[in-house]
Amino acid sequence: MADKPRIVGIDLGTTNTLVASVRNRIPKIVPTDRGNLILPSVVALSAKGDLLVGGVAKDQMVTNPKNTLYGTKRLIGRKYHSKVVEELKSYFNYDIVEGPDGDAAVMLGGTMYTLPHVSSLILGQIKTIAEQFLGGPITEAVISVPAYYNDNQRNAVKEAGRLAGFDVKRIVSEPTAAALAYGFNRGLNQKILVYDLGGGTFDVSVLQLNGNVFEVLATGGDTFLGGVDFDNRVMDYLLAQFYEQTKVDLSQNPAALPRIKNAAESAKIDLTLRLNVLIELPYVGERKGKPLDLRIPLTRDELNDLTKDLVERTFTICDRVLEEKGLKPSEIDEIILVGGQSRMPLVQQRIQEHFGKPPRKGVHPDECVALGAALLGDSLGSIDSVELFDALSMPISYGLPDGRVKHIIEKNVQGPLTRSFRLPSPVDPSSPYIEMDIFQGDSDYMVDNEYLGTVRVAAASAGRKIDFHLTAECLLQVLVEDPTKSPPMNPLALATRDTPEILKKAIEEALSREPPPEDEPKKASGGLFSSLTRVFRRK
Ligand code: AMP
Repeated sequence: MADKPRIVGIDLGTTNTLVASVRNRIPKIVPTDRGNLILPSVVALSAKGDLLVGGVAKDQMVTNPKNTLYGTKRLIGRKYHSKVVEELKSYFNYDIVEGPDGDAAVMLGGTMYTLPHVSSLILGQIKTIAEQFLGGPITEAVISVPAYYNDNQRNAVKEAGRLAGFDVKRIVSEPTAAALAYGFNRGLNQKILVYDLGGGTFDVSVLQLNGNVFEVLATGGDTFLGGVDFDNRVMDYLLAQFYEQTKVDLSQNPAALPRIKNAAESAKIDLTLRLNVLIELPYVGERKGKPLDLRIPLTRDELNDLTKDLVERTFTICDRVLEEKGLKPSEIDEIILVGGQSRMPLVQQRIQEHFGKPPRKGVHPDECVALGAALLGDSLGSIDSVELFDALSMPISYGLPDGRVKHIIEKNVQGPLTRSFRLPSPVDPSSPYIEMDIFQGDSDYMVDNEYLGTVRVAAASAGRKIDFHLTAECLLQVLVEDPTKSPPMNPLALATRDTPEILKKAIEEALSREPPPEDEPKKASGGLFSSLTRVFRRK
């Protein structure tokens, strides 16, 4: 009997990408050409104009920061005119620009690259690595995404896979993949919490395991909380200490900063195993033409002091997610750690204190997502296949004229599911269209949510049925009734434009208002006006 085509599992990470495949029911990570188990998620253009991917691209990060794309997982599927992209612009050394359809795109050597294209270069490299190691073409994949990814982001990753030459069999949420790596074929009946603290984001998911049925009960997270924030705290500390010692400010020194950032991260990682380190950087600055070295000790306790509020934030989020399902920390049977930053001893200690039990040993925090994705891929179509019930991590809504949103599909519901409505008449009776701007996010205000696109149908469709369908992968499909067709419910692509009219108007209104004097009490945070001024005044 011919072997069924092998489906690899890919963890397309913020920092690193891993690929795994299953042989004889055992999933294994495929080593890269450099003999590592990870491929840095970095794409770069060399000084000679060669496109580099992975370790070679990362190697030139310090010397050629403008042409080295890293952390693009945070940008993929985002609109250029969004709060998140506005904030991320100050994070990265490369240029972020407006691409097709109003999506964020990046510049590399004067050429614009879409983010699915950038990710496809990483996935393409992974495909080559897998093919060389496994011997033979690999065309099918399961790719993981953060549970907190919205619809645009999930679709953009699918598109990246397609551009790399994969038939993407399924998009799976990272915590679900981690849960699979832990519980697949073990006949467990447990509630588990997956605590995923990676390089850039924090994700938490609570799952019910029942044999090979994996049901996501609730998810939450913070897309701006991860290892890099820990590094930044250490970096700020080093800059302040150095200034105290030398009165030289390195905070605007482009040559020194990447070196200090790397040293900060290395010190943080070393402090996982050791109690103190000495951070040394020769010739990091100058004073009156004389070289200055950086030499600063750091203890684990000092690191904990610098970052304990970040760790506490993760537990506030865990509690919020548990509360959504009326669960107490003590009702969780196992805690699975994912992501490099979860190795920090303070995290492990606080898990023990918070949940009354230590995190589960034996699940590899860097590898479990790729392993779980591979297990899922292998099980697709087989008799004892896994049943996954993924939950929607953020509500899907439509925009109201006052700048707020109204929910269409609530958070934490499981796909597949359909919500049906009747199309209203156009707001403006003379308009030839009925338009609904669709958003995804936790806020009540559209400016704080991600714009997914616009439902635009002829005004004559008023009164017809519109279905918002959530697939098993938690992707949104919109179907509109057309009685002349069979079947009458027809898929509708969301129309996209850079900024919806309604949102543009809200932005203009907010900008035309004078900012309040400094001593005037601020508007409640999270409100429309405060959000807009926060975004636009920073420019
Ligand atoms: P990931 O996105 O899961 O690859 O996580 C990468 C993050 O984990 C980076 O911020 C690393 O600095 C951090 N990290 C890796 N190993 C350790 C460690 N032993 N202790 C603390 N943080 C770590």
